[in-house]
Parts: sequence; structure tokens; C-alpha cells
Amino acid sequence: MTEISVSSPPRLGLDNTYADELEGLYVPFTPRGFPSPVVVQLNRALLAELAVDAAVVETHATGLFSGSLVPADAKPLAQAYAGHQFGGFSPQLGDGRAVLIGEIKDHLGRRYDLQLKGSGATPFSRGGDGKATLGPILREYLMGEAMHSLGVPTSRVLAALTTGETVWRNDALPGAVLARVASSHLRVGTLQFFAARRDQASLKRLVDYSLARHYPERVGAENPALQLLQAVAVAQANLIARWMQVGFIHGVMNTDNVTLSGETIDYGPCAFIEAYDPTTAYSSIDHQGRYAFGNQGAIGQWNLARMGEALLTMLAPEEADAIAMVEAALQVYVRTYQAVLLDGMRGKLGLVDAQPEDQALVADLLQWMHGAGEDYTLTFRRLADGLKDDTRPFCDAGFAGWQSRWLARLGAEDHAQVAARMNLTNPLYIPRNHLVEAALDAAIAGDIGPFETLLAVLASPYDTQPGREAFAAPAPSEFGPYRTFCGT
Ligand code: AMP
Ligand code: MG
Repeated sequence: MTEISVSSPPRLGLDNTYADELEGLYVPFTPRGFPSPVVVQLNRALLAELAVDAAVVETHATGLFSGSLVPADAKPLAQAYAGHQFGGFSPQLGDGRAVLIGEIKDHLGRRYDLQLKGSGATPFSRGGDGKATLGPILREYLMGEAMHSLGVPTSRVLAALTTGETVWRNDALPGAVLARVASSHLRVGTLQFFAARRDQASLKRLVDYSLARHYPERVGAENPALQLLQAVAVAQANLIARWMQVGFIHGVMNTDNVTLSGETIDYGPCAFIEAYDPTTAYSSIDHQGRYAFGNQGAIGQWNLARMGEALLTMLAPEEADAIAMVEAALQVYVRTYQAVLLDGMRGKLGLVDAQPEDQALVADLLQWMHGAGEDYTLTFRRLADGLKDDTRPFCDAGFAGWQSRWLARLGAEDHAQVAARMNLTNPLYIPRNHLVEAALDAAIAGDIGPFETLLAVLASPYDTQPGREAFAAPAPSEFGPYRTFCGT
């Protein structure tokens, strides 16, 4: 028996500002649900942050999050968007396997989308089945929680379910669906969709809506399109600089995956870097390394340029003036990115003030790490350990030279104090690739235990957790080179 036949739809206290204010920018669409959904994981910590009746959500979780039971106050819809994928423009993407259920708030009054992903085909599916499978659904859950605990702006998964269906990819796989919570799903690609159609009226509504929703402090200024472009420049620069500090590779930084809010979204072939190498690109479809670790800052700028292009006609009547505004916004992006990144790297090295030589100090450490094949995450923890015990964390001569420069730069401050500060910003636990794969494999085989254990460890990434040493270690060599997949 399905949920829908035994329950009348509850109200969740949803708003529907996207549906109400942006008619014509989406297709109303009700998910069909699944015959035998089962909740695999419910994010109670996230649920507790939301201003919804948790008891109602828990009671109806299976129906609500599989799409079988659409809340009485929902106006479900599939959003239209376009996007540059690996550099090539697709004028129509859209929610091909996602449905926006409505908007909820947290206890601080901040608004979030509640979206289902993997809930079945929509008018934007372009021949796809609109479905998802358990591995990628749980990966998105785990990665989102890890990023959240690391302090990186991100969408989060509220619930992951199996659908009871078999989904065919290269293999027969367990079908799954997730419910996610994001500040919004407005993307650079959303603007591009209407710009490509020369639909100025929709573009304008979208710009006004986006500004009001994400940057209300900028509403009322003379040029809303310019305000939005500059705000996104700052938000994305901050976001990508944070990715670089924690070693995160998004893997598919297409403009449809770039949010206007500055949150990480659309976890597909993402993974954390292990041995430091800026050319690392795990994704099986990223043949050229376009979205490699070290390219992410530049790709962010490229994506922002596409946003500028989409807004060109709105920015100024004269194209030359509009182009100058885009160029200025790109400069804002570059300057913000470099400043936030350098500041973060200073923090990782325990430095509090800024000195001109810091840039070279950071670059030379990274270069040494690359040459030595050292682990990006653990190197910073070992630097702190070495400070605490007054030992040399790495033996080679290249490191010794760098270490004396660093120690001189640290000056007279108590080393134990510096080390303690470093450990607040350098994680000990990241989602190690081999552990993620093992946890997902176990879950697919029916054992959710390793997933839950890993999730628990990653909830406190900066704290040493006795007995959890194995969770901090890089992949053993027999794990081999890592590859990730888009999970469609
Ligand atoms: P993604 O790579 O997940 O960001 O998706 C890129 C585009 O492909 C989006 O428009 C998705 O909605 C669409 N898409 C991905 N997988 C599927 C699928 N299984 N069925 C239909 N559309 C899909
Ligand atoms: Mg996407």
C-alpha cells in the first residue's frame, strides 16, 4: 500500500515565492511518487534547524520525501535553466530529475528551497528517466554534511530514500531519491535560460527576485543587474576560496551548477584531494582537467563572465558600458578570491597578521607538498603537531628550508597556542575517497552502518577523535587512482 492511499497530505507551512512571483519561469509539475519507498537516512540535525513540525515530517517522511505525498500547501514545479557544460552552451537544461516542493524557513527566518532529486521525469528530462540511484544520493548526503561541518556554504540533504525500483545505468542499481535544502536553486544558468531567449521581461523579474531573496541589502540601488553580478562575484569568490582551503574538488563547475547564493550545490563527481597536486581531476568525464583542483578559481571567473554576458542588456543601454561593468565585476571576483584564499592559507599556517612574504611562503609549501606527494589535509595537521612537540614533521631537506622560514615568520608566540589555533582551521577528517566508496558499497549491499559511522566522524572534522585514527588516513596504495562519476 502506498503512502498516498493512507494519508491525507499534511501542511508543512510552506511558502511558494518562486511559484507565485515567477510565473512563466517554470513548469508546474507534481511528482508521481514511487510504489515502495523506504527512508534510508533522515537528517534530524537539519530537521531540528527548520521551522517545520518535526513530528509531522517524521510521520510522513516516506511519502513527503519520495514525492508520493505532496504537502497540501505545496506548489510543486520544475525550474527552467540553461547552462554552459564543459564550455559548451545548452540553451535548455532545467530540472530534469528534480522538483521544487516549496520553501521553508529555519528558526532564524532564513528561507530555503525544499527540493526532491531523483523523483522522476519532468518536462525538462530530455529523454532521461529523471531518476537517481542510491550511491550518488548517499554521496550527496555525506559530502553536503561534511562540507557543512567544515563551515563551507552548501546545500544539505534532509532525507535519502530508496524507491523500491531498479534503475538501469551500466548495471541494475537500486533507485533512490533525496530531499535537499538549499538557500535557493537559482543558478547562473537560470539567468542564461532567459537571456538566450532574449526574454528581457523574465530576466528582469528573475534579477529582482534573486536580489531580494539573497542580497536584500542591495535592493533599491540604481542598477539591480549590476548589484546582483557584484554580489555573486563576492559570494562565489568566497565559496571557491573555501573549497581550495579544505581541498574540495567540485568536479562539474558548469554554469548550471553555480548558485547565485554562493552555496555549493549539485554534488556529482566531487571528491577531496589527497596527495597535493593541483592538476587532480577525479571525474571520469573531465578528460581535459577543466575542473581540476587548481583550476577552480579561474573557472569561477569564467562562469561569472557568462553571468555578465547574460545580464549585458540589463546592465547599460550602451554595450561598451555594460562590458566595462562586467570587467569591473570580474576584477572584484579576482581580488576577493585572492584575498580570501591568501587569508585562509595564512590561517592554515597559524599566521594572524598579513606580511608581504606570505604569498611566497604559501606557494613554496604547496610546491614542496606537490613534489613530495604529501597529503594536503594531513600536512597542515602535522605542521601543528611538529610545533607542539618541537619536532620536524617531514625529513627532507626541501622541507627543512621552508620550515625555518615559517618558524621565523611565526615569531615569538607560544608554539602550542599557534598549533591549537591551526587545528581549528585545518581539518583532521575529510571524506577520504576509499572510505566514501566503502561506505556507499556497504549501503548498496544493505548495511548502512559504515555510512552512519563515517557521517558521525565527519560531523566533527577539527576534533581529534580517539579510536578514529583510520578515518584520518589517506587511501592505501592498493586503492589505486581514484575516479568519480556523474551519477546520472
Ligand atoms: P547534473 O549533471 O546533475 O547537474 O545535470 C545536468 C542536467 O541533466 C540537468 O538538467 C539535469 O536535470 C539533467 N539530468 C541529469 N540526470 C538526469 C536523468 N537521469 N534524467 C533526466 N534528466 C537528468
Ligand atoms: Mg546540475
